Amino acid sequence: MSLLVVGSIALDSIFTPFGETADALGGSAVYFSVAGSLLHPVQVVGVVGSDYPRAELERLAPRGIDWSGVEQAAGESFRWKGKYSYDLQSRETLETRLGVFADFQPKLPEAFRQAEFLFLGNIDPELQLDVLSQVHRPKLVVCDTMNYWIGSKKAPLLDLLSRVDLLMVNDSEARELSGDWNIHRAGRWILAHGPSRVVIKQGEHGALLIEATRTFYVPAFPLETVFDPTGAGDAFAGGFMAYLARTGSITEDNIRRAMVYGAAMGSYAVEQFGIRRLEGITLADVETRVRAFQDLTQVSLAQAPV
Ligand code: AMP
Repeated sequence: MSLLVVGSIALDSIFTPFGETADALGGSAVYFSVAGSLLHPVQVVGVVGSDYPRAELERLAPRGIDWSGVEQAAGESFRWKGKYSYDLQSRETLETRLGVFADFQPKLPEAFRQAEFLFLGNIDPELQLDVLSQVHRPKLVVCDTMNYWIGSKKAPLLDLLSRVDLLMVNDSEARELSGDWNIHRAGRWILAHGPSRVVIKQGEHGALLIEATRTFYVPAFPLETVFDPTGAGDAFAGGFMAYLARTGSITEDNIRRAMVYGAAMGSYAVEQFGIRRLEGITLADVETRVRAFQDLTQVSLAQAPV
């Protein structure tokens, strides 16, 4: 079943306590597709400027990433600059330059309009709405957002929220969007505004899947080496959506399994700078880590003494 993503295609400058990179390949759509393509082909919609190293994107095409929906426009590419704290738990955005994304008007190729699984990656909510309106009959629509858009585009974001099946955000975004510091109440607030499910990512504390009557939790993989948390959320989304597209099922059980694939992909993303680690892993590596999650979380309570 086809999988489509719209999101930023960026040049990232990242500062962590372990080093820094400048103008590295990044953006929500890039992390999503590099991770997701390990499980399922990904179609990408977006725009890059005349300064973008398009050959770098094309180099990734054999993984199963279809970049034909990425326009190259005259002007500057999207650029993001961020700096992480010593414990990598928080980050400060130093600069966001929208560049060619400011005037982008997506026009989806006909083949892309048939997409069954649609991920509206972190980008202007008006662009997310535009892409959503062009896809004929998606089976599952999931969207992400960021403090930048919650602050500047709240109205279209709320409109979008009422039209999607699942919102996938991190804990600080859920708090900011709902105005509630409690993550479970924030999840409830989001459900009341449209989606039937919300995934709240909590970095090294794992991720929650909140539904009307149930909550599911997947921990973060216990890593001893973390270099760069950038893109972990998008890699999570890539693993989550590509697993669903690969298996073609959106039952509750399958969505829980997709959470584990998401967590596995997110854990690989942070092990090296940028997309480097995700580029180097195989499907067998992903399966090994998914099995490790099973061992990490399984417990038999039937024989517990009372
Ligand atoms: P994550 O670490 O999962 O939140 O994703 C980080 C990626 O999001 C980076 O590669 C950035 O290029 C991209 N990004 C940062 N700010 C924005 C924004 N306001 N809109 C879209 N993408 C962004």
